[in-house]
Amino acid sequence: MRLRNVPGSDETIENSNKAYTNPEDYKGSWKNVFGNDNEIHIEIGMGKGQFLTQMAERNPNINYIGIEKYSSVLVRALEKLEDNELDNIRFIRMDAENIENVFEQGEVDKIYLNFSDPWPKDRHAKRRLTSHRFLDRYNNVLKKDGVVEFKTDNDLLFEFSLEQAPEAGWNIDAFTWDLHNDAELNEGNVMTEYETKFSSMGNKIHKMIISR
Ligand code: SAM
Repeated sequence: MRLRNVPGSDETIENSNKAYTNPEDYKGSWKNVFGNDNEIHIEIGMGKGQFLTQMAERNPNINYIGIEKYSSVLVRALEKLEDNELDNIRFIRMDAENIENVFEQGEVDKIYLNFSDPWPKDRHAKRRLTSHRFLDRYNNVLKKDGVVEFKTDNDLLFEFSLEQAPEAGWNIDAFTWDLHNDAELNEGNVMTEYETKFSSMGNKIHKMIISR
């Protein structure tokens, strides 16, 4: 994602009651933040929040938390919320490598990874959000029968992810190289910003669902 500094974005996030910059303080008590016992689904690297906002609109009985590293991006997701009264969505500004400091074991019911940065150089492989190292972190926050759903248009990242999952002890429950032409896996699909852009350019969208 091309990053442009958005003046005032840090202040906007600090002043928002939907965004958190001190998420460690809420570890183990995210249900209290929402005031109910509903499931908690998170998206890591949510960008400008199109996917998560639509998911929250469609599923009022699920709580959604979007994680994004950069204030200048997260602030765009907050702007999307200005026009609606959604109670079931929050945002966290953080690097996902600290996720175990933010959620207790089993506190998360589902993890979405959408169009994660590919980090094409071998020496950066550990930064990929579907790397063995990150899957181990997810293992420590996701409930026992929880799943990770991953979408990308990047062939190499998808191949890498299909290899990393079994290496890290995860099962591949389902996968497709052409999501939009897979009636079963595409049912109810909510498009992300990147998905909209890349599929309109003719790129095939890939998806995998994994569990332990
Ligand atoms: N998920 C969105 C979509 O599909 O349209 C955005 C995809 S964009 C290519 C990837 C996003 O992930 C960027 O906004 C980036 O800042 C964020 N990101 C990358 N690595 C991250 C990390 N380790 N922790 C949190 N966010 C991260």
